[in-house]
Amino acid sequence: MTNAAARRVLVTGATGQDGSYLVDRLAAEHAEVHALIRPGDEAAAVLIRKYGEIALHTADLADPARLAAVVAAAEPDEIYHLAGMSSVAQSWQQPLAAGAVTGLATAALLQAAWDLAQRAGRQVAFVQAASAEIFGNPAVSPQDESTPIAPVNPYGAAKAYAHHLIGVYRARGLHATSAILYNHESPRRPDTFVTRKITRTAAAIARGDADHLVLGNLDARRDWGWAPDYVDAMLRAARHHRADDYVVATGRAHSVRDFVAAAFAAAGVRDPQRYVRTDPALYRPVDATELVGDSGKARRELGWAPTVEFDEIVARMVRADLDAPMH
Ligand code: GDP
Repeated sequence: MTNAAARRVLVTGATGQDGSYLVDRLAAEHAEVHALIRPGDEAAAVLIRKYGEIALHTADLADPARLAAVVAAAEPDEIYHLAGMSSVAQSWQQPLAAGAVTGLATAALLQAAWDLAQRAGRQVAFVQAASAEIFGNPAVSPQDESTPIAPVNPYGAAKAYAHHLIGVYRARGLHATSAILYNHESPRRPDTFVTRKITRTAAAIARGDADHLVLGNLDARRDWGWAPDYVDAMLRAARHHRADDYVVATGRAHSVRDFVAAAFAAAGVRDPQRYVRTDPALYRPVDATELVGDSGKARRELGWAPTVEFDEIVARMVRADLDAPMH
């Protein structure tokens, strides 16, 4: 593709785990990348150093007028909306912010995408990074696109609102897709997530820099996939001829306890139970017992499939933490 014909793509949350993998993919295909970043986001400097020509737009997700202005200025062909509060734990600390930055921001961006599509007389593909948390503590397992939406925390409720809005704008005629992403991990995962907390601590114990790991609910079961695969699913969905909702998941659940065992094995530390303690303060007020997704529709319609198995995901994260302890 020549530069003149390059796709223009707006990525919100470009400095996060998924955003950074997505920008890697877009840079490789020579797309014109516009990144929406938080005011004062230092990680943005890394984007500039790494990609050079990326266009940075600063906007607070709680400022809808500014979000609309960024969409109007960037005139994207595709919008990937990945920004928002990323953790359930944080949404219990800041429930109002969860609604504003995860819920209302999506409304502002969708309306701006709709306005652009009307003005330019062309389609604007919008992909919302939705979450398995919209299903709450579901009675059925695995979940798919028809599972009732019944969130059990402020994060899930905000994501559910955004997911419903995608349906509203799709019915209006926008190419709006909701990618219902199950947990997806990588060495770029921050340690507010249990996976990274475990791999980082297992690596520290292996080095002799730590002597215990404090966790909450060890029995929670989650469907953990490889983050770049989930970015691949979002790209495929944006470029599919028809917009829709897609569950993106591996279909396999493991417990937090299983994750601990795999991480300590990868770090070469025996008897994880000697190091693991639990603290009731780290239990969630309400926590899904098991979230596991049926991604059959994404596999059939998008030709998508996960490429990295659970043990290998854990091993890659542990290796990264053993190699770069301070990173
Ligand atoms: P989430 O599914 O987006 O909330 O991802 P997390 O990685 O934060 O949490 C996954 C599961 O791990 C949840 O069921 C948590 O209750 C459980 N968990 C157990 N101990 C911890 C902990 O110390 N930190 C976090 N973040 N989660 C924990």
